[in-house]
Amino acid sequence: MKQNLFAALPAMNTLMQSPAVKTLCDQYGYTLVKHTVQHVLTHWRSQIKAGDETEPTLALLVQQIQTAVHEKGDMSLRHVVNATGVVLHTNLGRAVLSPAIRDTFEQVAFGYSNLEYNLAEKQRGQRYHHTERLLQEITGAESVLVVNNNAAAVMLVLDTMVQQQEVIVSRGELVEIGDSFRIPDIITRGGGLLKEVGATNKTHLYDYERAITETTGALLKVHTSNYRMVGFAESVATADLSQLAHAHHLPLINDLGSGLLVDLQPYGLPAEPLIKEELKYADVVTFSGDKLLGGPQAGIIAGKKEYVDQMKHNQLTRALRVDKLTLTALEATLHLYQNPDKLLENVPTLRMITQSEATLANHAVDFMQRLLELPTLQVSHIKGESQVGGGSFPGYTLPTYLVTVTTPLYSATKLEAALRLGKPAIVARVENDQLQFDVRTLTATDDELIIQRLKELVSRDA
Ligand SMILES: *Cc1c(COP(=O)(O)O)cnc(C)c1O
Repeated sequence: MKQNLFAALPAMNTLMQSPAVKTLCDQYGYTLVKHTVQHVLTHWRSQIKAGDETEPTLALLVQQIQTAVHEKGDMSLRHVVNATGVVLHTNLGRAVLSPAIRDTFEQVAFGYSNLEYNLAEKQRGQRYHHTERLLQEITGAESVLVVNNNAAAVMLVLDTMVQQQEVIVSRGELVEIGDSFRIPDIITRGGGLLKEVGATNKTHLYDYERAITETTGALLKVHTSNYRMVGFAESVATADLSQLAHAHHLPLINDLGSGLLVDLQPYGLPAEPLIKEELKYADVVTFSGDKLLGGPQAGIIAGKKEYVDQMKHNQLTRALRVDKLTLTALEATLHLYQNPDKLLENVPTLRMITQSEATLANHAVDFMQRLLELPTLQVSHIKGESQVGGGSFPGYTLPTYLVTVTTPLYSATKLEAALRLGKPAIVARVENDQLQFDVRTLTATDDELIIQRLKELVSRDA
């Protein structure tokens, strides 16, 4: 039996000459394919040795080779259709860049650039110079610095502004932001000594005042991004903290996290601290580039020149420096802020958050009608709730429309898995045995991709 199976195993050459494997060679290169074929053959030999009696047909081996080559040669990081309705989805790459910056990005990122070259002066330039003017203009800050992410920004600020001195923070703001980024740990890491004041639910101005001593280095306020305290709760306004800090010649640092540059209250969203407003009181603020700003991952430090200049000369800054791809995407995104009339249209994050219920309803109806053309699908649309995500607007949900899908061919969880594991990967919600697509985070191309994938799935087994 074993001898027969060994004899039936296709030869290396036969496999390499099969049309499907040849196609793989064209696409992925000879080396990767040959290694994979060798690997598959070795695996078969050891399986037969171990007593496996599966027939090694050419078709089966070719299929295994195809799967293995795709697994090795295809991109692990790839496009995902986000049908969850969470706009700043931390697991799905947070802010989506604007299509309006695509051309600029391509031109700068795919060629040489004046990253660190001052063309006018014909001498070495500063990589930070490119985004500096725009950020100053938009935030009203005296000086700004861009680093890798906001966690890095907070660390650099503390490392520069407090050394072996106490940093006073409210107990209500000693939060964990996600992925174990914890404010108390960051303070200690940054070389500061944590001085907690107040209670979890309430901190008063006098709590801060009583804690100020000779060893105090700064007051720190943290936006409690991902959670919200309701009920018997109180924190101190930045304006009051600022007065207190400055009366004692201490700086006030404000970690804002979400980085809102435009007021979204006219669109029915609750008040969130605006960078420009907060900078009237705080000496230094920090926020993310890929949250509400809608740009690439980055940490932005904005504030008084005397402090930010020190940060620019801190050795840590070199370790936290951003690359040209980030700077290109960030500068291009910031230019979109120069045209407020088109801002919501141009920045996907802001557009998705501020879409009207009527727009969402139209989108849902249109999407639903196109899905109804597919065999076996039962399609409907219902009201639902989406989240901003990324720790912005905690505890707040946005009214939305969900397109729901069921089919007798698959359970909702099976369908969800098939979409998630397909290409492109489609991430949707499952509730009440229905697959749900929140239209808030879907573009017109995404609708089309979902329709195509569902079509394949229901046609295959129909
Ligand atoms: C999100 C957030 C951070 C971390 O920012 P990253 O850009 O993810 O590093 C820090 N502080 C606050 C308040 C945040 O909301």
